[in-house]
Amino acid sequence: MSMDLETYYLNLRRSSARQLQQRREELEARDPGFALLQQKRSRVFAMTPQGAKLALNAIRLEEEGLLRQHGLPRDYLQPVYRCSLCRDTGYVGEPLKRKCTCRMKLEQEQLSESARINPRETFEHFSGGIYPDQISLQNGKQIAAFCEKYADTLPRPKICQLYLFGQAGRGKSFMGNAMAARAIERGVEALRLTAYRMTEEVMQGFSTGLSPLSRYVQVPLLVLDDLGTEPMIPNVTAETLFSVADQRSSGRLATVYISNLTPEELTDRYGDRIASRITDKAITKLLPFEGGSLRGGN
Ligand SMILES: [Zn+2]
Repeated sequence: MSMDLETYYLNLRRSSARQLQQRREELEARDPGFALLQQKRSRVFAMTPQGAKLALNAIRLEEEGLLRQHGLPRDYLQPVYRCSLCRDTGYVGEPLKRKCTCRMKLEQEQLSESARINPRETFEHFSGGIYPDQISLQNGKQIAAFCEKYADTLPRPKICQLYLFGQAGRGKSFMGNAMAARAIERGVEALRLTAYRMTEEVMQGFSTGLSPLSRYVQVPLLVLDDLGTEPMIPNVTAETLFSVADQRSSGRLATVYISNLTPEELTDRYGDRIASRITDKAITKLLPFEGGSLRGGN
């Protein structure tokens, strides 16, 4: 997957370089002044770093003057990047490189539906329409406000874990998705998937030899949705969940769990060893979705 993206970015940079070269050749054919400037540029390499800097600056100003004479914008001979943040490399930051937002979005697009962050489910699209009454609407608004603040303080929010629970159709998944989307918007890597999908990926890992576990454990924000609806496969489901919950809670990593199960029901299903890590009061904010009965589906 990441190989494909490397090629994608390389192609972007190549086509940008080609376009630039083409523009340069056309201008040099129209006006020998441009060719002269290129000759000056080639001599800069022999200069001291300080001298080179001054000379390049002077050449650039001269070039902008020429472009103006031809009625062209001053950046006409600058490379055109699709993403100016990373200059189409996919990475930002020096000396410590991290993925650019544009790259994270591309990675999201390559994921399957059940493991993808939905770009339409964001805090900007929050709507009270799904709530059947004033109480649940108020509750939903408060939770949305809390979740948005949480997302805006990633990767190190004050309280590192959230447990969103309550009956279906109250927008729990929406909140989880909105937090993951906001994280990526802010340049924090996020992974959103259902517990079902997690189990499936671990099973696939047995045959491919590529375990997804380190990804679940290391990603700065993990949103695990639909906890409690996955099949309980012996030696897989509980073991995976324990590893993830144990390592993320002891590392104080931002983790959002979403479930229809109350904390008590969670303990019944997975046992105290797992449930205590997911709802550990010292590091977890419990967010119950309350209110009257349900009006529609999800
Ligand atoms: Zn970028």
